[in-house]
Amino acid sequence: MALEADLAALAGCAHAVLAPMGRTAIYLAIQAIIKPGQIVVLSPLTISDVVNMVICAGGVPRFVDVEPHTGHLDPDRLEAALVGDVGAVLLTHLHGLPARVDEIAALCARHGVPLIEDAAQALGAQAGGRPVGGFGAAGVFSFGLFKHITGLYGGAVVCNDAALAARLRLAQAGWWEASPLRLAARAVHGLGIDVLTRSAVVWPVVWRTVRFGQLHAARPTGRLSSTDRAPRLRLSLPKALAGTMTGLQAGLVLDGIEDLERDAASRRRAARRSHEGLHGLPGLPSQAWPDEGAVWSCYPLAVANRSGFLDYAMRAGRDLASTTLHNCARLPCFAAWATDCPTAAGLQQQLVQLPTWPGYDDAEIDATITTVRGWYEGRA
Ligand SMILES: *Cc1c(COP(=O)(O)O)cnc(C)c1O
Repeated sequence: MALEADLAALAGCAHAVLAPMGRTAIYLAIQAIIKPGQIVVLSPLTISDVVNMVICAGGVPRFVDVEPHTGHLDPDRLEAALVGDVGAVLLTHLHGLPARVDEIAALCARHGVPLIEDAAQALGAQAGGRPVGGFGAAGVFSFGLFKHITGLYGGAVVCNDAALAARLRLAQAGWWEASPLRLAARAVHGLGIDVLTRSAVVWPVVWRTVRFGQLHAARPTGRLSSTDRAPRLRLSLPKALAGTMTGLQAGLVLDGIEDLERDAASRRRAARRSHEGLHGLPGLPSQAWPDEGAVWSCYPLAVANRSGFLDYAMRAGRDLASTTLHNCARLPCFAAWATDCPTAAGLQQQLVQLPTWPGYDDAEIDATITTVRGWYEGRA
């Protein structure tokens, strides 16, 4: 189908196979690549269902800590983790920024371990001029509600191996198709979140209510868009994750792909404006300007006292969101695989996502910069 051809081309791969969600795509890829009981090495800084998909697919998670300035899997720690019966490395590209995937792909190749890229947040991003998703045995994309290209729900696996693509299709035989009702409910939910998180500043009634809640210790608005508030262990793929994408959803994603270049250029401009405006402050993605191939699903910032900062920002009229990522290596539901990953633990508590979406005003970006600077300069 047209979308699969587009996705394969975007990733520089021979094949793309659609899936109902990004997380299901991860499940399918791992299940098709590893043998049951093999270790899957991954970053703990992700959503809990990514770890669940590893487990549901028969893998044993092994967490390796991340780099402080990107939150990406640290290649320097990875080699030591490639011992024993490792079936795959799952590499997450966060915030639309490419991880150090060429180094990691080379390391995996040296050890004979298949690499799977979780590019759920990074469709269209490039590392060293090559598209992410196409560096290893398989790459995964998401078209979830909060991703920069959305089909309400949706995902895909890209790969070069025709036999692997055939296994990914076969595994989905007989899965249910999303009903128009479910999609409509999802769209309405998205609209509500959109209004609350994107237009809060220009919608005083909602805004005041939300701010009252924030200042009186209710949940911040950023949390409303969290899809991962009650992590739990899953041992087999839930029925809800075993559907297929509809033509309607594929159409939405195709529209998004058509605008991808323009939107990415706009996101890059917004990110650069934030980056330059925040120059010299701690907790930025990198002190140098990162790879031009980033698509910036947001501009990530790490702030030591995040709840204090978010209160301060809220008082200044800035509605900023915390990360929805967990340090999965310390979630109680994954206690059996608990690992000490101090950098991921810190980032989970510190990450804030500054908006970069196309159409987000320069004036808004500048107001956020002023607020962040104000916080650090002690005007709080
Ligand atoms: C969103 C996301 C997923 C899962 O995608 P869904 O389509 O929501 O299932 C997986 N990994 C990362 C890093 C994500 O951000």
